[in-house]
Amino acid sequence: MKLKISFPAESVKSPILSEIILKTGVLVSIVSSHVDSTGGEIILEVIDKDSDIIKGELKARGIKVTLLRTFIDRDENECVDCGACISVCPAQVFSFADDWSLAMDTQKCIRCGICIDMCSHQALSIKGADSE
Ligand code: SF4
Ligand code: SF4
Repeated sequence: MKLKISFPAESVKSPILSEIILKTGVLVSIVSSHVDSTGGEIILEVIDKDSDIIKGELKARGIKVTLLRTFIDRDENECVDCGACISVCPAQVFSFADDWSLAMDTQKCIRCGICIDMCSHQALSIKGADSE
């Protein structure tokens, strides 16, 4: 599952993730990272059974954690399979199927929203609700 962690400015230079990985032995994958001197946001991929461990360790350090339950959704009635979303998606969510219809691997989505703005047919949206 994917966890979004939000760092305040004072935590940006702390090796918080490294400390947690060393302490718990839980491995995480960084899906995306946007960090600067004002704070940061990182999306992690964690296997389901370890997510509570990581969430607990982050929260104990005052880091906000959000479980991403949202996903990119396509309205098949609006989509015309033009493929414009394929080239803009940084996570390779979209591809063409053998019949040239649009295929999606929604598990890869990092919820950046780029494709939503790109689709001139307003076929894409974020569905679901994230949770703390
Ligand atoms: S850009 Fe929009 S209309 Fe074109 S393939 Fe993607 S979802 Fe469909
Ligand atoms: S929201 Fe971003 S990562 Fe998700 S499908 Fe759209 S472009 Fe790709």
